[in-house]
Amino acid sequence: MSTLRFEALKEIFNRKPVKIEEPARRSELFGTNVFNETSMRQYLTKEAYENVMEAIKTGKKIDRRISDHISTGMKEWAISKGATHYTHWFQPLTGTTAEKHDAFFETQGDTGAIEKFGGGALVQQEPDASSFPSGGIRNTFEARGYTAWDPTSPAFIWGTTLCIPTIFVSYTGEALDYKTPLLRALQSVDHAATAVAKYFDKNVTKVTATLGWEQEYFLIDSALAATRPDLSLAGRTLLGHSPAKGQQLDDHYFGSIPSRVLAYMRDLEIECMKLGIPVKTRHNEVAPNQFELAPIFEEGNLAVDHNSLLMDIMSKIAEKHSFKVVLHEKPFAGINGSGKHNNWSLATDTGTNLLAPGSTPMKNLQFLTFFINILKAVHDNEELLRAGIASASNDHRLGAQEAPPAIISAFIGSQLTEVLDELEKVTDGKLSPKEKTELKLNVVGKIPEILLDNTDRNRTSSFAFTGNKFEFRAVGSTANCGNPMTILNTILAKQLNEFKKEVDALIKGKKMKKDDAIFNVLREYIKQSKNIRFEGDGYGEEWQKEAKRRGLSNNKTTPQALKALISEKTISLFSDLKVMNKIELEARHEIQLEDYAMRIQIEGRILGDIARNHVIPTAVRYQNILIENVEGLKHIYNEDFKKHSNEQLDLIEQISAHIAKINSGVKAMIEARKVANKIDDAEKRAFAYCDEVKPYFDEIRYHCDKLELLVDDELWPLTKYRELLFTR
Ligand code: ADP
Ligand code: MG
Repeated sequence: MSTLRFEALKEIFNRKPVKIEEPARRSELFGTNVFNETSMRQYLTKEAYENVMEAIKTGKKIDRRISDHISTGMKEWAISKGATHYTHWFQPLTGTTAEKHDAFFETQGDTGAIEKFGGGALVQQEPDASSFPSGGIRNTFEARGYTAWDPTSPAFIWGTTLCIPTIFVSYTGEALDYKTPLLRALQSVDHAATAVAKYFDKNVTKVTATLGWEQEYFLIDSALAATRPDLSLAGRTLLGHSPAKGQQLDDHYFGSIPSRVLAYMRDLEIECMKLGIPVKTRHNEVAPNQFELAPIFEEGNLAVDHNSLLMDIMSKIAEKHSFKVVLHEKPFAGINGSGKHNNWSLATDTGTNLLAPGSTPMKNLQFLTFFINILKAVHDNEELLRAGIASASNDHRLGAQEAPPAIISAFIGSQLTEVLDELEKVTDGKLSPKEKTELKLNVVGKIPEILLDNTDRNRTSSFAFTGNKFEFRAVGSTANCGNPMTILNTILAKQLNEFKKEVDALIKGKKMKKDDAIFNVLREYIKQSKNIRFEGDGYGEEWQKEAKRRGLSNNKTTPQALKALISEKTISLFSDLKVMNKIELEARHEIQLEDYAMRIQIEGRILGDIARNHVIPTAVRYQNILIENVEGLKHIYNEDFKKHSNEQLDLIEQISAHIAKINSGVKAMIEARKVANKIDDAEKRAFAYCDEVKPYFDEIRYHCDKLELLVDDELWPLTKYRELLFTR
């Protein structure tokens, strides 16, 4: 009998919000578990402190001798906070974070023991990492990988462990994680953007890419979630009929937050505060039981670390509140899925946001320069950007009328469109003084005003300009932001390098003035990148056709999308800028394909299991009840029984028909899996899972969901959508 489902439902009636204590001012908590500037000043020698600060600012290597001082100070600070262990904390290509804890404790001869943490242990570690995905890098070259301290992201304490953010690389130097290429990309964009920013302000010496992510997620009661093998193992439901009420009434979005959820959010935010994650915004999202959390934006590398850390602690804290956090991009069919908008901009060390228009025409020309270069970079690399957000789970969300389609396009709003249309008419060659004055007054000069009331928002665009930043909206909720951020910053770095070359050539070769040269190059970029701009409805079918006419890619599945990761163009882009070499790209391509195939394989197994071992037996049980009933009626009414058992007989037949379809579907799916599993080539295997195995999911599900509607509710073993989504 379906006791588990009903017991879980009963359990929920007794749930109470967890009581949360917090100080009147959250700011008092901020960074208390982070080895930040304040604690470094307190625990490090002056020399050590200055060394770390310099490493953070300039990337200068830390002296080995100094690292012993730093580790000792760090250990003393950590012990004062109750830490007993330390770990290198890194982001392997599994998409989650990894850690291996070691105690500070060490024995000393036979006289006793001390707490020890040497500089060597801080700077480098060799985790037994043989089971992290490497795409063959370590097999081919060197059997080991090591982690190395990233001083730009401060160490923190989680529980009783000091966590040291690190990169993870092979002994031959290839990146085995998300952080390494991100750091290289951030450095590239810094160099390229600083050089261009100097056209406008000589004092700029560093440009930082900034990121503010918005994390969407579902909260499902943990007792209910435990009754669903699909939710527990695959992170999403593989079947389940839509509830009578879903999100049609839009009554969840920005609605009042349920009390158990609010307690969870407060608890999570308090932990975030202590960890230095500057969370700011929380609200209900569109779907029932869907929520969002967003921080104040930060430097790109730190923001990525903070998001990875957040995803990790979200689940841990949820346990205390009897919730399961569901980060999957599409956990429930027919209900909005979750994304992670990546708000992205560039800031100079002189305090300017390069994507915010300024108060002078020169500042606005600077804004336009970066703005247009970004459009050009996105235009030239749209397919690569799509590859950067590809995953089995995000495939369900892109194009599902709730998130952008698989087509990358940029939305800039009608006013900026007008500005670009004007700039497109700028004279070829030197500009007359009259034209320049005209431009300054009527085009460039008007930007701050138009952006102030720029309420233009297009939620259907994958890459939207939102007043002082771009918002990459197609990123999935489970994604490590490091991946899309590496791509965005790299393509912009390349673009800005080109731009600088072209402008300098006009200045030197054609003896143009700087602003004339800039206007000339921008004019051409506006023309060349027009196809990427789209202001209309990204969800509409017309856009699919229009995008095709424009020659934009529309890669709907992960194996297809990932091809761009290893194209000649991508390989030279990444290797020219030394962000990733061919080996690293090929390895990533293979790892992602393997991940894709494995996820579909796991989902197929779970679906087969649920369909055959839960759904069919339940349907048979109910059918037997009906048969018994019909036999009883026959006993009472003899030949007349049909008059009284029409509906029952109809149900019996319908159940048989659905069972037959489920069974044949599962059989065929298993056969398709067997064929796919025999394929050695990772790409071909991924395509086989995508094209030959996955299509059975919908068919099997359809019949299971029909049975859910037919079978007696009391017998149904799987917690239903309405229960998962509306109990809290
Ligand atoms: P939305 O309407 O998309 O929810 P919000 O204004 O609430 O927009 O989201 C703002 C997000 O953008 C926040 O995460 C914020 O930190 C981030 N953000 C704001 N300015 C910048 C910037 N200059 N660089 C990067 N991210 C930014
Ligand atoms: Mg947003």
